[in-house]
Amino acid sequence: MTDAYWNKKVETMSRAELEKYQLKLLKNQVKYCYENSKVYRNKLKNIGITPDDIKKLDDSQKIPFTYKNDLRDNYPFGMVTVPLGELVELHASSGTTGNPVVGAYTTNDMDVWAELMARSLYTTGVRKEDVMHNAYGYGLFTGGLGFHYGAQKIGTTILPISGGMTQRQIKLMQDLGSTVLCCTPSYAIYLAETMIKGGISPENDLKLKIGHFGAEPWSERIRERIEKELAIEAFDIYGLTELCGPGVSVECTEHNGLHIWEDHFLIETIDPKTGEILSAGEEGELVFTTLTKTGLPILRFRTRDISVIQNEPCECGRTHSRMMRIRGRSDDMMIIRGVNVFPSQIEYAIMGLSELAAQYQIILERPDALDVFTIKAELTEKSVNSSQHELETLKRRIKQKVNNITGLSPIIELVKPGALPRTAGKAKRVFDMRLGKI
Ligand SMILES: [Zn+2]
Repeated sequence: MTDAYWNKKVETMSRAELEKYQLKLLKNQVKYCYENSKVYRNKLKNIGITPDDIKKLDDSQKIPFTYKNDLRDNYPFGMVTVPLGELVELHASSGTTGNPVVGAYTTNDMDVWAELMARSLYTTGVRKEDVMHNAYGYGLFTGGLGFHYGAQKIGTTILPISGGMTQRQIKLMQDLGSTVLCCTPSYAIYLAETMIKGGISPENDLKLKIGHFGAEPWSERIRERIEKELAIEAFDIYGLTELCGPGVSVECTEHNGLHIWEDHFLIETIDPKTGEILSAGEEGELVFTTLTKTGLPILRFRTRDISVIQNEPCECGRTHSRMMRIRGRSDDMMIIRGVNVFPSQIEYAIMGLSELAAQYQIILERPDALDVFTIKAELTEKSVNSSQHELETLKRRIKQKVNNITGLSPIIELVKPGALPRTAGKAKRVFDMRLGKI
């Protein structure tokens, strides 16, 4: 099935061949950084390393980590390795705290990005004949344009609708016959909710078949829900502004992890506390090194994303390692009464209940010495009229499910349908009011 691959040779090359190729690229990238970046030259000089010390792939471990703060401290162009005139596009993260992170692309970087996004979309079945409804935000955020460039490379018809104006989105999806939907998972759920409310059956009234969801962590439960409600096959896609935007990794039709395009990125997993290297199969923080970037290359970037890497062969025939679904960010990890909890675990616990809508909030307070942990869960139109007894039973069930996963006993508050805010961008789920009270 050569038709299954965008670039069969690269996607299915043997691990040995792939690693040999990676070593060649790593040597080049480190040398390039050393010669063209004051920041990296200093980092390497400080620990007495030169590019000649990179002799095998494992030698990447000698290189110091790069943190988001390195990019912020060198804002805007301190880590750019080409004359500014060589840059052809700039992107930036939202930067809610401090300086934003700038993504700087040369012509070559743009070609690579489009290629990786085309490969990612193609892997999930997107073809020339499709109509792609791109509801990711267009602009500084890499989501909108990343998908745009990839689909353009395939020759797919693109509807660059961006975010917002949900009713209009649904009308155009219907009228123009969209077959592919790209947006955040929380917006997909909101779209489904709005369609169902408006009497539109995604299965009968729309042509959607594939969905690409990313930019925020989501669970298997959310996948089940989106697939059922929108009658599509849902794919997870991953990327970061620091690396190139979306297109770093994507799920294949096996839905057993996201293939990392290792001909452009070197992946490592580390213990987020000690920085120690972990083996494949062990859960830890993902660390990426760009292998082919020319505008703003990054060596050993600490993503804060927690996952597991698998490098056994995948049923789809691709040899590139897979990262399992992101379990959370080490930044997002909550410590409640001394227990490590990720929002995704709470999501997993509550999403399987048909009485609840897909919206929830986690509220953490510390009125005196002990943490108070509350989950606000939204009822559906159907379950809101349940008897008091039924609602009490539901609360007990939620509490039990969360307890089974985390060992904690939260307070459960049920709220009316529509009571929790919807958003077209990333949903805010955790409200930690304990800060400053420690
Ligand atoms: Zn696969």
